[in-house]
Amino acid sequence: MELHKLTIDQARQLLSEKRISSVELTQNLLDRIAAHDDKIGAFITVDAENALSQARAADERIAAGGQKTFTGIPVALKDLLCTKGVKTTCASKILGNFVPEYDATVVEKFKNEGAVLIGKTNLDEFAMGSSTENSSVCVTRNPWNLDHVPGGSSGGSAAAVAAQFCAGALGTDTGGSIRQPASHCGVVGLKPTYGRVSRFGLVSYASSLDQIGPITRDVTDAALMMTLICGNDPKDSTSARKDVPDFTEGLKQFRSDGLKGMTAGIPKEYESLDGIDPEVAAMFDTAKSLLQELGVEIKEVSLPHTDYVVAAYYIIAPCEASSNLARFDGVRYGHRDRGPEDLIEMYKKTKSTGFGPEVQRRIIIGTYALSAGYYDAYYGRASQVRALIMEDFSKAFNACDIILSPVAPTPAFKIGENTDDPLTMYLSDIFTLSANMAGVPGISVPAAVSSKGLPMGIQMMASRFDEMALIRAGYGFEQSIGEKTGLKTDLPEL
Ligand code: GLN
Repeated sequence: MELHKLTIDQARQLLSEKRISSVELTQNLLDRIAAHDDKIGAFITVDAENALSQARAADERIAAGGQKTFTGIPVALKDLLCTKGVKTTCASKILGNFVPEYDATVVEKFKNEGAVLIGKTNLDEFAMGSSTENSSVCVTRNPWNLDHVPGGSSGGSAAAVAAQFCAGALGTDTGGSIRQPASHCGVVGLKPTYGRVSRFGLVSYASSLDQIGPITRDVTDAALMMTLICGNDPKDSTSARKDVPDFTEGLKQFRSDGLKGMTAGIPKEYESLDGIDPEVAAMFDTAKSLLQELGVEIKEVSLPHTDYVVAAYYIIAPCEASSNLARFDGVRYGHRDRGPEDLIEMYKKTKSTGFGPEVQRRIIIGTYALSAGYYDAYYGRASQVRALIMEDFSKAFNACDIILSPVAPTPAFKIGENTDDPLTMYLSDIFTLSANMAGVPGISVPAAVSSKGLPMGIQMMASRFDEMALIRAGYGFEQSIGEKTGLKTDLPEL
């Protein structure tokens, strides 16, 4: 049996039948990481010792009849989720030696189920980026083609799942960082509704946009992970007081009713966007007609403020980042430049040696936009635009259950191709940013592989708290696309 290929659902079944042990599964993945991660760079920290002891504890728990969904399942965590006693770097020099004293709420949830936390994955520093090239640790490579980026900022998590280094992973998504790398790596990524998942213990990038969510091999696993990680948390005042359904119901809905009765909206503004790769456009057409064959009614909808999404996001996110990152001053956390004797000089030196260029760029933009006299012109304005974007979405969702689009305008680009051109990099977020601006959930499901062998995903968004619609439609799509196009989402040999 090729243990590394198992989905979460398959592994938990085999564990419950005692046909495999968690120790075997974990050791298999650790060996695979040791053999291949030097090429890919998915992990910042591999926590072999703790992982194996968690696996032994899981095997005992299963033997004693106490198995839960994630007992003994090896998962990876993006390295900006705090893990007690395990380094949490945010891929930044400024937190290079930071070891948290507590676990993020989502991490605690995995621990309570007896999951195996195999390691911490690479990211763009503080989650700022779309390619995982902005990491101070290393560049992560796309397991499908090592010359290409895995996407970002959760590129390490997506690459780790695609390369079969773990059964599933957590990422975070502020403007697409779960969905876009999932799309580029041929795996499933789901950004929940803002407030669905506690952000306690997540190092903040832009607090009003950040969400934690699953990156998994398939939609079934995403449903399982959502059921675990969602829920109100008194430690996060923005977390929603909403009951958490069993999201695997969405899979059952598809099995019993297909997708009949569902309506999908296609924003007419998306049709006229520049820079859409022809292979992405073709993938989107195929996806649309497949959904139609499955009984989905396709409609045109309108998101009139689409043209302003990127500009408004790239004001709001840097503003919030500049304020969040002010706490990294060399006094309380991580790195301190020990040269200067003067306090102000120490701040300056610490920040200019501790933060990488993209993070510095965003701090400067954000600080400028928030400074006295400019607030109304920039942050205030962008927030007004954001309100209009939210309104666009509520209107659109009066007419449809899900909104369809590609995840990204192009397949994964080459490493280095866009690093000198931040604007092109920012514009590539066009399809994903709005879900964060509007607070709605979105899923990325593999839909095709390009002529160069690079995966491409389709995005579905739904109204707030209707992740169930995404699971149902995403699962239906996933079950049928293979038959229709012969799509294979299993990685070619590493
Ligand atoms: N690419 C976007 C940015 O750099 C989104 C990143 C994210 O979702 N964390 O801000």
